[in-house]
Amino acid sequence: MSGRVCTIGLDGASLVLIRRWAGEGRLPGLARILAQGRAGTLHSTMPPFTATAWSTIVTGTNPGKHGVFDFRIATEPGGPKSYANTRLIRQPKLWGLLSGAGRSVGFLNFPIGFPPEPVNGYLVSGFLTPRGTDNYTYPASLGPELHETLGDYVIGVKLPKAGIGHEEGVAFLRAMDRQTELRIQAYDYLEERFQPDLHFVVFMAMDQVQHLYWKYLDEEAEGRAESAEGNELRALMEKTFRRLDDFIAARHDGLGENDTLLIVSDHGFGNLRRRFFLNRWLARHGWLKFYGTRVWGDRLRRQFGRPLPAEGSGGAEMIGGTLADRSGRYIDWSRTVAYASHPSEQAIYLNVAGRDPHGVLPESDYQRVREEIVTRLAMATDPVTGAPLVRAVLPREEVLSGPHTPCAPDIYIDFGDLPVTLSANITPHPALVRTIPGADGGHRPDGLVLAVGPRVADGADLDAHVQDVAPTLLHLLDEPVPNHMDGRVLTELFSPADLARRPVRSVAGLDVETSGTGVAMSADEEHDLEESLRALGYL
Ligand SMILES: [Zn+2]
Repeated sequence: MSGRVCTIGLDGASLVLIRRWAGEGRLPGLARILAQGRAGTLHSTMPPFTATAWSTIVTGTNPGKHGVFDFRIATEPGGPKSYANTRLIRQPKLWGLLSGAGRSVGFLNFPIGFPPEPVNGYLVSGFLTPRGTDNYTYPASLGPELHETLGDYVIGVKLPKAGIGHEEGVAFLRAMDRQTELRIQAYDYLEERFQPDLHFVVFMAMDQVQHLYWKYLDEEAEGRAESAEGNELRALMEKTFRRLDDFIAARHDGLGENDTLLIVSDHGFGNLRRRFFLNRWLARHGWLKFYGTRVWGDRLRRQFGRPLPAEGSGGAEMIGGTLADRSGRYIDWSRTVAYASHPSEQAIYLNVAGRDPHGVLPESDYQRVREEIVTRLAMATDPVTGAPLVRAVLPREEVLSGPHTPCAPDIYIDFGDLPVTLSANITPHPALVRTIPGADGGHRPDGLVLAVGPRVADGADLDAHVQDVAPTLLHLLDEPVPNHMDGRVLTELFSPADLARRPVRSVAGLDVETSGTGVAMSADEEHDLEESLRALGYL
């Protein structure tokens, strides 16, 4: 019989920061795992963002198969977008595969776990659960049970907007620490109550504090300034990190004879210094057209009294069957062949005739125009510093494969480790690139993976991909790996003797697609999710 597996998701954790802090004695539990177990890089999805990466982690497939390209996704080419949710992850999920095999599971605070699906065990949904809903647990009685047992349970702390004052920041970090404390208490209670074969918990704290305060965590962050206020904020964040470290150490100590502890992050983190206005860049090259000056002036006058869109907001998307720009009506769609929507997509859409509602680019010109944009953008440099603005620019087929690829953006941008982030802002301001004040944090494509337990053999650093997590967890539980999965079992974790005793088994893929209908949300629920994503800089 296989042992049990505990998987701890640390959203946004970077190996660089964890290794440094562990080396400085600030994270003794993780330091012990780094010394006794295996560690390495877990390459994220394209784009390296939470909704897409966790959907890949839970399905073992690339986004072309599961269809979650961003927080908001189209379910038909050129179609309107809905918030990602379990019904829009269109591949079998780990919790369903294991439940179907008679194994028990517990998923606590899983991002895109809303609405919760029936499992053999329990599921508590996390990030992208609308605040105020009662429908966030399976079984449904578990929510009230957690509140009754723990006194409180917080799905997500309301995120402050960037540029908040010190006191507000302190209050936010205290609330985040309390949320983490409650999450750990919930885990301990649910472990006792369900003892699942796979117990999977995700903590969002690292991601969310790093977005706001990377500059106080990373001594090497460019633009970092020492201050008493910064030290206070760092101490509060360190308290939460240490709380997570203690939790991890306790799971490590509690491992049984054949048990394994796996720690994963969906993407890494790093410093952001420059904001690249992609729609302005497209306009500069003639692929996107703003209305003429006179119309623009009229529009400004009509808007009098209403503030112009803030820097970093904007983007364009399908709303109610119409291509619209989210900052007002500044784009002339009849002459626009390419545009960027949400910055978290890291992508460009072409406006294709016959596909997009106001499409103008003839299908016969698609390849040529796409190639021109790819070539031109790959050479783009920062007009001020001369540094490259992108690492690579890729047509979607080089990034994705699978039946939902036609719903994805047409071109992807890989920023690698560059300290550059996108804005899809569409106001025709002249600057293409601007300095981000302070030293904000942003996503990096390399997350981390750590593994420890009696079955984990000594060896070199791991070099893995988020799509490898699901196959590896199935193998650890002695279950076969469905061959529709894109990931592989990380066999380098095991000794030859272990692999001989328990060879990797594969099984025909379950070619199941769940229906692609979104969950209808109320206007308040939609607004709440939108605010959360805006606070993180994703919209
Ligand atoms: Zn994330």
